[in-house]
Amino acid sequence: MNIIDIINQKQGTAFSFEVLPPLKGTGTASLFRTIEQLAEFSPRYINITTHRSEYVYNEVEGGLLQRQRIRRRPGTIAIAASIQNLFGVPVVPHLVCSGNTREDLEYMLLDLQFLDISDVLVLRGDKAKEDAHFHPTGDGPSYATELIEQINRFNEGFFHDGTPIKVPGPNFHFGVACYPEKHEEAPNLQSDIAILRRKQDMGAQYAVTQLFYDNEKYFQFVAQARQAGITIPIIPGIKPLAKRSQLTIVPKTFHCDLPEALYREALKCKNDEEIKQVGIEWAVEQCRELMRHDAPSLHFYTVSAVESIKQIAKQLY
Ligand code: FAD
Repeated sequence: MNIIDIINQKQGTAFSFEVLPPLKGTGTASLFRTIEQLAEFSPRYINITTHRSEYVYNEVEGGLLQRQRIRRRPGTIAIAASIQNLFGVPVVPHLVCSGNTREDLEYMLLDLQFLDISDVLVLRGDKAKEDAHFHPTGDGPSYATELIEQINRFNEGFFHDGTPIKVPGPNFHFGVACYPEKHEEAPNLQSDIAILRRKQDMGAQYAVTQLFYDNEKYFQFVAQARQAGITIPIIPGIKPLAKRSQLTIVPKTFHCDLPEALYREALKCKNDEEIKQVGIEWAVEQCRELMRHDAPSLHFYTVSAVESIKQIAKQLY
């Protein structure tokens, strides 16, 4: 069963979450513990993020700095396969343009087929940390829509250079990202919504939102998307606030506002433990309202939030 079939089953609001592959060299134990902790809520699917390589600067003899290229979190596809095999939960690895040529992406599609994984989330991916703007790698795609084109060609039975695939495998199904508060580079929300419409027309079966804390923004976004002819499920992404430092980091990193009421409550807190409680209460109310409005699925971002998500899910599911 593909993710869209799971979402369309409509057996209540589905519970799903996103994990990161482990930091290079740290093994899988901590990641698998995260999944075990959330397994009791029967996640319908689990997303696995992808992280491009970046440059780091190491001090060497004489106080000089040596530039080194590293990938801190490799292994998305392998981790996805292990999760699928160990936990029996459908997986959605993220496939990103960032850092990849078309050939790299093609080999990923082949690996995924060999591993019997046919659902992916198609994204442009983050820019390299050292760059001011996103740059494609070699002949790699510049936008998620270009990667969708490549996947569609692959589904039709052609490699990126136009040669036919002798024995085509099952088709890939995919979702995409969307931004209730606009993508940071989009000139306005309408143009961003037009891109989402294009992704739907190219075969995207659902969209997952960037995290947000103000349901009104999500409801308005969904209404505008529907007006623009977007009919696919728009899955809300939720990340409970858990630390004081997130009051500034979250808006800066994810380009979303913290509602005044949430910010006010967080400011009253004396420590992170109290902020965590505020974050849990806010997320529970947010999710209850989304469920009343028939959100197709609640998708949780687990970074620094596993314990909170557990407490939230206990109250919701
Ligand atoms: P695109 O759809 O390519 O859009 C990028 C920008 O270009 C937007 O402003 C859009 O309006 C504009 N645009 C799009 N197409 C065109 C076009 N054809 N012509 C002109 N303008 C265009 N990042 C990672 O690196 N790894 C991950 O695993 C990851 N997972 C994510 C999961 C979710 C649910 C979300 C919401 C984001 C995730 N990200 C991840 C971050 C994401 O990659 C960044 O937000 C990235 O900057 C945009 O990705 P996109 O797929 O939305 O890009």
